[in-house]
Amino acid sequence: MTSLTRDFFIGLSNSTILNKSAKKFGTRFGADRFVAGTDFDAIIPVVRELNEKQISCTMDHLGEFVMDRAEAAYAKAKITHMLHQIHEQQLDCHVSIKLTQLGLDIEESFCIQNVEQIVEVADKYGIFVNIDMEKYMHYEKTLAILKQLRKKYSHVGTVIQTYLYDVERDLDELEDVRLRIVKGAYKEDQAVAYASKKDIDENFLRIAKKRLLGKAFTSIATHDHHIIEELKKFADEHHISKETFEFQMLFGFRVDMQRQLIKEGYRFCTYIPFGEDWFGYFMRRLAERPQNINLLVKDVFYT
Ligand code: FAD
Repeated sequence: MTSLTRDFFIGLSNSTILNKSAKKFGTRFGADRFVAGTDFDAIIPVVRELNEKQISCTMDHLGEFVMDRAEAAYAKAKITHMLHQIHEQQLDCHVSIKLTQLGLDIEESFCIQNVEQIVEVADKYGIFVNIDMEKYMHYEKTLAILKQLRKKYSHVGTVIQTYLYDVERDLDELEDVRLRIVKGAYKEDQAVAYASKKDIDENFLRIAKKRLLGKAFTSIATHDHHIIEELKKFADEHHISKETFEFQMLFGFRVDMQRQLIKEGYRFCTYIPFGEDWFGYFMRRLAERPQNINLLVKDVFYT
C-alpha cells in the first residue's frame, strides 16, 4: 500500500464527523468482517465459540477521542457491565480499554477516576484489564496512569508499539507488567517513530525477545507470520515455557494460522472489538492492508 493510501484511511479514522455519522448505522462496508457486533449480547456466543476452541479473548467496547463527559461515563458503565457479565458467564476473556474513550482528552483526573472504577471491579473478579496504546501524544500520560494504578492493582497492563524509537527505554520499568507487543496502528511523525517496515519489524523482534527472556507475561500481537515463526524458534531455543506468553490476533484475521498455533500448543487470544463506534477501528484496518479495501469495494458495489 502506498503511504498516500495509508494516510488517507488513517485521516478518515480521525474524522469526528464521519465517526459520529457512522454510529447511526449498523456496521457497513464490510466492517462486520472485523467488528464482531454492535451490542454485547450478540458477541457472547462468539466468545463462547472461541473459548470452546481453546482461544481466550479480549473484548474492546469500541470508542475513542471522546470529548463529552456523559459519553465517557456511558463507556465506563458499558465496560463495567461487560466485566460483570464476563464473571457471571464464566467467559475466558479479559478487557481492552482506551483512555481517550474514558475522558483522557477531557481531564486527566476525570479519566483516572473512570479507569480506576473499572480496574477495581476487574480486580475483584481477577479479570485482567489491558490499556490499549493510542497516539504518541498520549504515550507518556498512559504510562503514568498505568504506574499509578499498579500501586494498588496488579491485573492491569498496557501495550508497547514498536514503531516508536524509544520504547525499549521503558521496558525495564515495565519488567513486572503484563504487556502486549504490537507494531503500532496510528500515523506518527518521523521525529518519534520508524517509518519503514524493516525497522519496525527489527524493533518488534528485539523487544519481544527481551520480554520472552523476562519474567512477566507477554502477548505477541501480530498477523505477521515471519515474526511469529522467528519468535517460536527463539522461545524453543531458549526453553521458554509456552505458559509465559501468548499470540494475539484481531477478530477476523488469519483464522487458519490461529488454529495451527493452538494445535502446536501455543496460548492464543483473539481481540474482539464490538459496539457502535466501529468506523475509526475499521479505517485503521483498511490502512494496514490493501486486501481489506477489496471488502469495502465489494460491499459498496455488490450489496
Ligand atoms: P503487518 O505489518 O500488517 O503485516 C505483515 C505481513 O503479515 C504482511 O505483509 C503479510 O505478509 C502478513 N499478513 C498480515 N495480515 C495478513 C492477513 N490477514 N492474511 C495474510 N497475511 C497477512 N495498535 C496500536 O497502536 N495499539 C494497540 O493497542 C493495538 N492493539 C492490538 C491488538 C492486537 C491483538 C493486534 C493483532 C493488533 C493491535 N494493534 C494495536 C495494531 C497493530 O499495531 C498493527 O497495526 C496491526 O496488527 C498490523 O500489523 P501486523 O503486526 O499484523 O503486521
